[in-house]
Amino acid sequence: MKIAAYSVVPAEKPYFEQWSRDHQVELKLISAPLSSATLAEATGCVGVSVQQPASLGDAKFYQRFVQMGLKYIGVRSAGIDFVNLAECRQNGIKVTNVPAYSPRAIAEMGLTQALALLRKLGEYRSEMAQGKFSLNPQLVSNEIYNLTVGLIGLGHIGGETARLYRALGAKVIAYNRSHKVQYESVVEYTDFDSVIAQSDIISLHTPLTPATKGMIGEQELQKMKKNAILINMSRGGLVDTAALITALQHHQIAGAGLDTLANEAEFFRKDVPVNQLPADYRTLAAMPNVIITPHVAFYTTTAIKNMVNIGLDNIYQQEIK
Ligand code: NAD
Repeated sequence: MKIAAYSVVPAEKPYFEQWSRDHQVELKLISAPLSSATLAEATGCVGVSVQQPASLGDAKFYQRFVQMGLKYIGVRSAGIDFVNLAECRQNGIKVTNVPAYSPRAIAEMGLTQALALLRKLGEYRSEMAQGKFSLNPQLVSNEIYNLTVGLIGLGHIGGETARLYRALGAKVIAYNRSHKVQYESVVEYTDFDSVIAQSDIISLHTPLTPATKGMIGEQELQKMKKNAILINMSRGGLVDTAALITALQHHQIAGAGLDTLANEAEFFRKDVPVNQLPADYRTLAAMPNVIITPHVAFYTTTAIKNMVNIGLDNIYQQEIK
């Protein structure tokens, strides 16, 4: 059995090599993403292990895929929106994903950013860079167990996030489309408007769908507390970036921690001259009360190992059945 792995990054290589040794399966590691231009690299393989971003093309791609004897597309992450599932069904291609490779990784990044913002680390850094070391009355902080944390979306990541904040003694309230009994011990369920109005930290954990796109806009930001910190580890499109910038500039909220931005595809995962970065990113990045990370909340050894191992296991288990 041979499997071709696309979009392989250096951090994944040791896990691919270990899995190959453990399972006695030959792997072809390819750094380029899967596309019609790179599909030929999978000649002689039973399936492909893929990662976003990848553009697989139209019906012809899927027909060629099966003509080459390929049977499986094993996505190494949760999102499979870049795979045409209708074409896969029609051509008998089996598609798998890894729905939860490490929810804890993303939950911990959200918590890290929230605590850094709560304790005003950016503001202190900026003051100290100017030689200002006296106690600033504007920079008195709060302690997490006095605060209400509001979660929107209580799935794998929202649930882990709830557990972390509860462990620190915060009150955790949550709005989710459906009631999840498994989190009743750590959250109080409420509605969307109450989360927005009552929370000191608001953490977003829903997928990006037509229903959630722009869920945090001008009106929602106006309803938040003045000391509220907005955390978005989910998808940039959940937040109206222009409205967020205005809210921060007018001190309607206290800060924001963002691992995702609506226009991130233009520059995340690339090296871009600083003067060519989007204006909204530069405005946000210059604010001491904003933390931006380039969609790396998942980027831990546990998550990478699980993505590689579970992604390959999904192909292997189907083939040996
Ligand atoms: P999940 O499917 O386990 O949970 C999503 C939750 O959102 C579910 O409980 C669902 O009921 C709820 N939901 C969906 N639509 C809703 C709506 N309109 N209103 C209220 N609740 C709604 O997903 P997850 O594994 O927890 O991941 C959540 C999101 O995190 C993903 O969709 C992805 O966008 C993002 N993510 C980010 C990173 C990163 O590195 N920053 C990594 C993985 C996932």
